[in-house]
Amino acid sequence: MRKAFASIAWLTAVAGGVVPWFIDDSSLSIVALSAWGIFLAAALISLFVHRSGSRIVLPLLFIAAVASAASALVANPPLTDGGRALRDALLLAVQALLSVALFVAARRRLRADSRAVIGDGLIVGLGSWTVLWVVLLQPTLGAAGNPTSSTVLPGITLGVLSVVLFLVATALFADTRPTPAVGFGATAVLLLVAAEILRLVDERPDVVLARPVLMAPLLGACFMTAALLLHPSSRVLLDPSRRRRTPVLMTRLIGTTASMVAPIILLALTDPVDRGDRVVRAVSVTILAIAVMARVVQSVRSNARTQAHLRHNAQTDPLTGLPNRTAMIDLVADAMQDAWGTPRQPTVLFIDVDRFKTINDSLGHSAGDDVLLEVARRLVAAVPGHSSVGRISGDEFVVLDPTTESATQAAVLAEHTLDSLREPLNLRQGDMFVSASIGVAMALRHLNLTADEVLRHADTAMYRAKAAGRNCIAMFDDSMVEKVTQRLDIETALYRALEKNELRLVHQPIIDTSLNMVVGFEALMRWDRGSNGVVSPAEFIPIAEETGTIVPLGTWALLDALMQLREWIDSGACSAETTISVNVSARQLHDPTFVAVVTDALAKSGLPAERLWLEVTESVMISEPTQALTALRQLTSVGVRVAVDDFGTGYSSLSILQRFPIQRVKIDRAFVQGLSEEVGSQTLVRTIIAMAAALGADVVAEGVETAGQLAVLESLSCHKAQGYLISHPVSASDVPSVIVALEERTSWDS
Ligand code: C2E
Ligand code: CA
Ligand code: CA
Repeated sequence: MRKAFASIAWLTAVAGGVVPWFIDDSSLSIVALSAWGIFLAAALISLFVHRSGSRIVLPLLFIAAVASAASALVANPPLTDGGRALRDALLLAVQALLSVALFVAARRRLRADSRAVIGDGLIVGLGSWTVLWVVLLQPTLGAAGNPTSSTVLPGITLGVLSVVLFLVATALFADTRPTPAVGFGATAVLLLVAAEILRLVDERPDVVLARPVLMAPLLGACFMTAALLLHPSSRVLLDPSRRRRTPVLMTRLIGTTASMVAPIILLALTDPVDRGDRVVRAVSVTILAIAVMARVVQSVRSNARTQAHLRHNAQTDPLTGLPNRTAMIDLVADAMQDAWGTPRQPTVLFIDVDRFKTINDSLGHSAGDDVLLEVARRLVAAVPGHSSVGRISGDEFVVLDPTTESATQAAVLAEHTLDSLREPLNLRQGDMFVSASIGVAMALRHLNLTADEVLRHADTAMYRAKAAGRNCIAMFDDSMVEKVTQRLDIETALYRALEKNELRLVHQPIIDTSLNMVVGFEALMRWDRGSNGVVSPAEFIPIAEETGTIVPLGTWALLDALMQLREWIDSGACSAETTISVNVSARQLHDPTFVAVVTDALAKSGLPAERLWLEVTESVMISEPTQALTALRQLTSVGVRVAVDDFGTGYSSLSILQRFPIQRVKIDRAFVQGLSEEVGSQTLVRTIIAMAAALGADVVAEGVETAGQLAVLESLSCHKAQGYLISHPVSASDVPSVIVALEERTSWDS
């Protein structure tokens, strides 16, 4: 239906473009009548089928009626003086009505860039005015001698015509996407303008035009308006909702250039006839020049604004509005330049929010954004006014203080910055504690560094702060560069470590204080690089996780740990009930072969599944819960048990944990360590124990280092413990003697 009407509309438009040129005097009235018929039918269709509303249809009907009345008079000369006056008044009325209609349309279609569009429209209007004056109005006036009543109305009509052209240009140049209806409408207006111009040409004493020629554009306009009304898009004629994908630059450029150039050529080629002509020409061209100048100025300024905007965007982090990485590097470079020859040595802090990924994964990105915004606010408030704060990526911020002179000042700045994050962040979601790791680097004069290098040094120092347990500060020193190269070393060597038999497991006993016995061991990986020393898992496990090597490494650890336990049980070193705990990282859990790897290892060792504990951190459950959940459910269904490692550090919620099959909770060392001194952490541990009970899990305290901590844990009825107080992790061969020694002990007070 819509399609059919659209095709009919196009047919009508084509007819409007063709038919009027084939009429002669005899067929004129027939064609005119049928044009009106089509027009009325189109109006009815628009009203009742497209439901375009009387707001659109009635004004068009009215304009068409006035135009028809005028053209009836035009078509039937000669006229009496009264007839001429009526005709001229009607013609003026048509243009005036068109102006009003176009004004409404243009206003609706204008968007953000309206000043530029109006400016361009104005140039078109003024240009066409100047041309019309020289070509039509002046000769007509000149022929009549002094202006009389018979020349005043056509004169005003020409003036209004320029306004019409200005408004058409404005409406067409606007950023709103043109519909076919808009195109038909614009063509109709231009045809009406052409008709008026032809008629005025005909008025000139030296020109006589045939009646059909005069009428052709009028009939064309009638067809075009009918096409407009027939097309389904007439419904949204005044609807500005749709925006052009690309602005109409080429059409505007051609339109405005032509409107500037045509009058200039015309004025250059023709001489003014009299004083009046000279004045009008001068005034018209001056106004045109002013309009063009204003438009150029405006365009240059808007260009400059756009540039500034782009530059600002390119240098600003959209979330926090702080300078981004590029901008910060520039600032650091500037500060270093300015410090040249002064005692100043600018300080750069590299700040990384601890465990931000976990926050993001568990609470969602909008909460993550809130955290970043609040951290940004804190940092800006914390540093002195002459410093800059930037966000250079995800959770990484940089502070630059250009005025520091000594390492002490740099350290004070860093301390102060770290302190600013101690108070909990007040977020919509509630209060939240965050901490950060801060790396400090100075642009030391004698090192002759680039800004990029200083930033990299601070970054390196930040990694040191992370490795030192987070929530702390590390100053850059040259040995750290070595660290970075070391990391690369580790990465490559790790690939070979398994083949070269460089890995081994050490075992840390887990005791039950109420039974006074060793209930199990946790297997912990060690990497013995011979002459290169023993690498700590804190150093290589993260790298192995990143590179994926953890999957074969973990497979090996599982089998080795189970075989080892089998040997101890067989040799009578430990009871048959003893368990072995093996750490499992996210990468392993998400590996599709993981369940098979575990059951294989169990089968090879011949141990029941109940002897094995898998230690999984909370973050594993948060990041990709469904996959981890499936694997763990399968394993627990055959009897393997699951412990949540480092409990309390992962921001997980009870609701997530509840979905997991969990039989044990390991209280993170951080909470245990505070136990004997701080009352607050006692409450925390009590809460964790209550949570574990709610999950139906038992509790192991990690990192017990003092008898005091153990006593408090016992008083909170947490009887399973692990830590240096009881035993450091020991090699497999030492395990039998350690068990004997531990079970002979009667008290933990040294
Ligand atoms: P974790 O699972 O939390 O292991 C406990 C860590 O705390 C061990 O460090 C252990 O030596 C240390 N520790 C035990 N008692 C105390 C104490 O009283 N005080 C202090 N300060 N520390 C204590 P380790 O062996 O360096 O292992 C570090 C981490 O590396 C482990 O943390 C675990 O996340 C990871 N890891 C170790 N072995 C493996 C493995 O085979 N597979 C995987 N995926 N991760 C492993
Ligand atoms: Ca563990
Ligand atoms: Ca742990």
